[in-house]
Amino acid sequence: MPNSIDVRNPRTGKFDYVIIPPPPKLLAQLCNRLRRAQVRWQQLSIDERIEVLQEWKQAILAERDRLTEALVNDTGRLSISEMEIDSFISSIDRWCRLAPDLLQDSAKNTSIPFIALQQTAVPYPLVGIISPWNFPLLLSTIDAIPALLAGCAVIVKPSEIAPRFVAPLMTALNAVPKLRDVFTFIEGAGETGAALIEYVDLVCFTGSVATGRKVAEIAAKRFVPVFLELGGKDPAIVLQSADLDLATSAILWGAVVNSGQSCLSIERIYVAESIFNKFVSLLVNKAQQIKLAHPTLESGELGPIIAEKQAAIISDQLLDAVDKGAMIHCGGKVEELGGGWWCRPTVLTKVNHTMKIMTEETFGPIMPIMPFSQIEEAINLANDSIYGLSASVFAESPELALEVAQQIEAGGISINDAALTAIMHEGEKNSFKFSGLGGSRMGPAALKRFMRKKAFLIKTNSANNPWWFDE
Ligand code: NAD
Repeated sequence: MPNSIDVRNPRTGKFDYVIIPPPPKLLAQLCNRLRRAQVRWQQLSIDERIEVLQEWKQAILAERDRLTEALVNDTGRLSISEMEIDSFISSIDRWCRLAPDLLQDSAKNTSIPFIALQQTAVPYPLVGIISPWNFPLLLSTIDAIPALLAGCAVIVKPSEIAPRFVAPLMTALNAVPKLRDVFTFIEGAGETGAALIEYVDLVCFTGSVATGRKVAEIAAKRFVPVFLELGGKDPAIVLQSADLDLATSAILWGAVVNSGQSCLSIERIYVAESIFNKFVSLLVNKAQQIKLAHPTLESGELGPIIAEKQAAIISDQLLDAVDKGAMIHCGGKVEELGGGWWCRPTVLTKVNHTMKIMTEETFGPIMPIMPFSQIEEAINLANDSIYGLSASVFAESPELALEVAQQIEAGGISINDAALTAIMHEGEKNSFKFSGLGGSRMGPAALKRFMRKKAFLIKTNSANNPWWFDE
């Protein structure tokens, strides 16, 4: 395992930060310590755990400026970093509101009059979280908060590409000793992530399909549950009756926000052929108004491409598309500005499913558009993917849009809007195909993933049961 890892700044291209992964022995000791402290944490009442999380929230608010600065250096963008912090803080409050009801035990009569049933659930002792770089704070804490409230201890291995936010977050954690004992972050790359899986009782992984498969294999050997939240190639379908002004504004946001570096970005657009030209010209017009946040953080809406490897993927997919006949209407290349990699909103037509840009995850602000003549054709194109994370359908009649949505193989589908699961985490959903595995990370089910259910079956009379041996 390397002693240290240099971290690149996405705006300057300079390696100006260093992280040090824990040696294997230290990682083992850390996990043992968390596991021991979890016993006391589980014994606290839910109200006591909520109180501790609220204390942490106050400590985070005190560190807000440092946290913002660290996230800006990690990702090169400002307003999304602020949104990320707001969303993180409101998710602490949301889970604190929901948890007491979700953690209630229940007792009921059963189909056998003299057997009562009591249901309870116990937390997995130690949860391991491995997270990506695109929303570093949000995706390293989205599972941690419900897991902690459920009574688990949690250890997080965030991405080595955007790890600066960990220092201010740890300062806030250290201010709350009861939480610090059961919740921590470790730095490191893939090897540290892989090593962590050996010590935990449940794994939440967010990242690529390729890594997800490796993580699932290690977890399977140990028989520990694993929840995988992986990549996507989200389609948007725009039917003939759709409100084009609304559809183009929603799709532009859904495809381009955070420079397209979101698992639930719209990455392919299928538009009814009768409105195709009008849709393209409206979208291009709007896309051209979006500016890069360069040279300053406030110069525009779009930050740099955070991971250098991603800039290479976007370039390769654009070249492949143009080689195979695609037409670029705006944007169209990855540019180097001040040492960072940037990409303007890009609209492409004359695309098809032989191109990587229509089939592989891009993770950039790219909007390839294909016409369709029949709704069935649009549904087939949308489902012609190894992915099934989310999707959008636009139509004048929500009923018609819902009918189409029913036939799309994806877990979260926005109707007459885009990427709503980024904003609202209330609806339970599962990933389809290679976009993931396991229970819903959203809605009430998210917290229940961290508990093992127990059924107490209680005999309430003193007579012999009819199915026992005759005496
Ligand atoms: P990645 O798979 O390269 O890395 C994710 C994490 O896994 C990192 O922390 C990395 O250090 C760690 N890792 C790498 N190799 C490992 C191994 N062998 N064992 C254990 N851990 C290992 O992904 P990325 O490039 O950081 O993130 C981008 C991907 O994440 C995209 O595919 C995106 O769609 C996906 N993503 C999915 C969601 C979702 O909710 N479905 C959300 C955000 C991002």
